[in-house]
Amino acid sequence: MSPAIPDKETVDIIREMGGDTLKICYQCGTCTGTCPWNLVRTFLPRRMMHRAQLGLIDFGDKDIWTCATCGACKVRCPRGVEMIDVIRAIRKVVAEMGVAKVPDSLRVSVKNISYVGNPQGEPEKERGNWAQDLGVKAFTPGTELLYFTCCIPAFDAKVRRIARATVGILNKVGIDFGVLGAKERCCGESVRKSGNETIFQGLAKSNIQAFAESGVKKVVVNSPHCYHTFKNEYPEIGAEFEVLHLSQLLDQLIRDGKLKFSKEIKKKVIYHDPCYLGRHNQIYDEPRRVLQAIPGLELLEFPDSRQSSICCGGGGGRVWMETPKEERFCDLRLQQAIDAGADVLAVACPYCMLMFDDSLLTMGKEGTIEIKDISELVMEAL
Ligand code: SF4
Ligand code: SF4
Repeated sequence: MSPAIPDKETVDIIREMGGDTLKICYQCGTCTGTCPWNLVRTFLPRRMMHRAQLGLIDFGDKDIWTCATCGACKVRCPRGVEMIDVIRAIRKVVAEMGVAKVPDSLRVSVKNISYVGNPQGEPEKERGNWAQDLGVKAFTPGTELLYFTCCIPAFDAKVRRIARATVGILNKVGIDFGVLGAKERCCGESVRKSGNETIFQGLAKSNIQAFAESGVKKVVVNSPHCYHTFKNEYPEIGAEFEVLHLSQLLDQLIRDGKLKFSKEIKKKVIYHDPCYLGRHNQIYDEPRRVLQAIPGLELLEFPDSRQSSICCGGGGGRVWMETPKEERFCDLRLQQAIDAGADVLAVACPYCMLMFDDSLLTMGKEGTIEIKDISELVMEAL
């Protein structure tokens, strides 16, 4: 039986909470046919839309938390239904109205972010510790560029190599940059997609205020999730700074002749389009141009790349949730990369790195292929 919703009709609540395009869905089923979940198990977004239209959502159904917000259905939907907004609204009913249980791992991560600004629950004051031995300066008014470190490279030792490589590149090129360390908090992208709008608003306001007080005008990020939120969502809340994904900055530096390679990387590298860089923001060419500029590197393509890229499974808060081994489509993607004969699977997102690193380990494929962020490949070739 569906948990009851107090006072208002379910469908009205979902529409008011941002899922208004629900009403134009005409049940063609293209979303179900496109969704990567159906490569590993049955998941029926069309059915979810239908039940939401009828006000028959079962808020206790664990499939409410399944969507990875990859956007594959959105680019194919003939009616322009904003599936992710509908799912976000459904999750918001659960997360903010308390009508059913939020999965434990997601609840803990969101609580950590709310209290200390990062999903790992690490002390706020230690956010800048990763940079201590690198001599990175604190951002002060007048500094040209803020390097905003996503929570994952900031606190996860396995992914910290992205931040270290990024700092190495920026130093080598001689860019005037700094970090805010303990003054920054999680961007809140996955917090919002998992329905926690009030917490997202608090995070966004806190970061916008910290940036404004420090005189930040331009920000570079590694995470497409930070990029998407800063670029497309923070302006709703009054943000006025410019944001670049690292691949855009590197592409520009190469084209301006300010970033020159001195070493070869004689490897076959296959590039995985992160959903939030590609489908959500149409940044497909810049990372490829950067990789192709590295001497000796041979760039391979997945059979389904760019707009058709398979999600790693880490978006929409899924990165914090347990996914049974047999349901991980990052495993399918890694196998595709191996089958293509790649020496390196190149990523441009800390979530993708975390997911693929885990696949490499759990599939027993270490030594078969390497997982590297584009920042690492660029740093190696400088
Ligand atoms: S593809 Fe669009 S119109 Fe078709 S069922 Fe899915 S949401 Fe509805
Ligand atoms: S956004 Fe991606 S994971 Fe979510 S329903 Fe659409 S295709 Fe499936």
